[in-house]
Amino acid sequence: MTIGLGIESTAHTFGASVIDESGKILSNVKSVYVPPSGSGIHPREASRHHADEAPSVVQSALKEARVSFKDLDFIAYSAGPGLGPCLRVGATISRFISAYYNKPLVPVHHGLGHIELGSMLTSARDPLALLLSGGHTMVLSAVRGRWRVFGETLDMTIGQLIDQFGRALGLASPAGPAVEKIASKGNKYIEMPYVVKGNDLSFSGLLTSVKKMLASYPQEDIAFSLQETAFSMLAEVTERALALLRKAELLVVGGVAANRRLHEMLEAVCRRHGCEFKMVPVEYAGDCGAQIAWTGMLYFKNGFFVRPESAFVKQSWRIDEVDVPWRG
Ligand code: AMP
Ligand code: MG
Repeated sequence: MTIGLGIESTAHTFGASVIDESGKILSNVKSVYVPPSGSGIHPREASRHHADEAPSVVQSALKEARVSFKDLDFIAYSAGPGLGPCLRVGATISRFISAYYNKPLVPVHHGLGHIELGSMLTSARDPLALLLSGGHTMVLSAVRGRWRVFGETLDMTIGQLIDQFGRALGLASPAGPAVEKIASKGNKYIEMPYVVKGNDLSFSGLLTSVKKMLASYPQEDIAFSLQETAFSMLAEVTERALALLRKAELLVVGGVAANRRLHEMLEAVCRRHGCEFKMVPVEYAGDCGAQIAWTGMLYFKNGFFVRPESAFVKQSWRIDEVDVPWRG
């Protein structure tokens, strides 16, 4: 049985996971960098956290899976997109393990990791995928060996919108769960900028406006209205893509996929189109090593891997530039 190690280090999370070719996750260990309240991720501080935590996270992942480095068939790592200093920690460690133990190395696109693990865990076959995370806001469908974009944000991601609103409230990033809780106490809708252009989204005007509103409205109502507005925008572009592509499944992945109000809205969209709603289990919604390990497995099985000296990182890397041979 083929087994592989996946290492995630694009942003706040350093994760390591061992997976086998059947998709069984033998371990999935992570350590998350939490910045001081009211501030965002500082790349250098996050990378220091990752460097400090990496040895114990990787050791625990192997121990839990009851394997040693020698048993691995490949090492996969998240090569981008992400914060340069954070990416380099994961890439350097992976390259070292690959070189020392003479194992193939598999660079993985982080966003692809979210989608492919979500797809495997929900048994989705050919879904419309909604990738909603700190780094991405995209509607995607696989066509001839690549995930093609059918709608995306033109400025910030939905995760950044929520985290920056959280910062304005003095919350630490990632602020999603706390903002969701505050929003659940609001019930009065306040009119906010709703910006959909073609099938793309823009959130920056919305952020500016909610920050200004903090001086004059209760934060619960602002959080509630922010969720209603931003998620309605997402639901609109998702519904248009579904109507066009007539997919039988909608797969929602990324940290923001954990939000319950978002589920309600997307489930309603799916009901209207006779589409199955598939949501990545919350445990695997945020960044984690299993995303990278599983996508690494798919590449490895398709003969895609490199020598350790070819390790690279890419801070900016579009998902529609990445070949996905198993979706040919
Ligand atoms: P990821 O980059 O995939 O780890 O996703 C992280 C993003 O998900 C951060 O911006 C979080 O604030 C956001 N997030 C996590 N949980 C929730 C939630 N319950 N509601 C909204 N956003 C969330
Ligand atoms: Mg992510």
